[in-house]
Amino acid sequence: MTNAVYPGTFDPCTNGHLDIIRRSAELFDQVTVGVLRNSAKTPLFSINERVKILKEVTSNLTNVTILSFEGLSVDFARSRGAKVIIRGLRAVTDFEYELQMAQTNRVLAPDIDTMFLTTSLEYAYLSSTTVKEVAGLHEDVSKFVPSYVEGLLKEKFREKK
Ligand code: ADP
Repeated sequence: MTNAVYPGTFDPCTNGHLDIIRRSAELFDQVTVGVLRNSAKTPLFSINERVKILKEVTSNLTNVTILSFEGLSVDFARSRGAKVIIRGLRAVTDFEYELQMAQTNRVLAPDIDTMFLTTSLEYAYLSSTTVKEVAGLHEDVSKFVPSYVEGLLKEKFREKK
């Protein structure tokens, strides 16, 4: 069995994330998406909301599991019996940070490797941050996120009005 984990903040999950999850699910027997409970960031969606969103939008993928985690991605990978951490690469701007993190993880856990999937071209520009900015201006985000997430973003920003 080849297991992989895909850790991230997913605040909220975009079509870009979903594309990486779908492609990972084709490559590995089991994929666990790890939603990071990160005290350094103040997310728009709570940890429970982010997990619920990912469960909803991946419900058709039988070999994908969604869990929250705290601490190091390598520890999370070990807890899932995974030797691979998946990350998505959009542009060179992602590269330096991702390389640094992958190398740090390699020192911390030489038995675990990071694998990068390059984003599909149609999602290369997409980030949770820009999606939230557009939704916050009450503009259409239907091209960026699954319709379930679109509805939740509308609700969130209605609350915040
Ligand atoms: P983090 O805070 O860990 O960077 P994110 O939720 O922003 O968490 O992203 C999780 C992973 O998904 C990262 O590897 C990121 O590069 C990747 N990712 C984000 N947006 C996209 C996208 N549009 N296409 C492909 N990968 C993406």
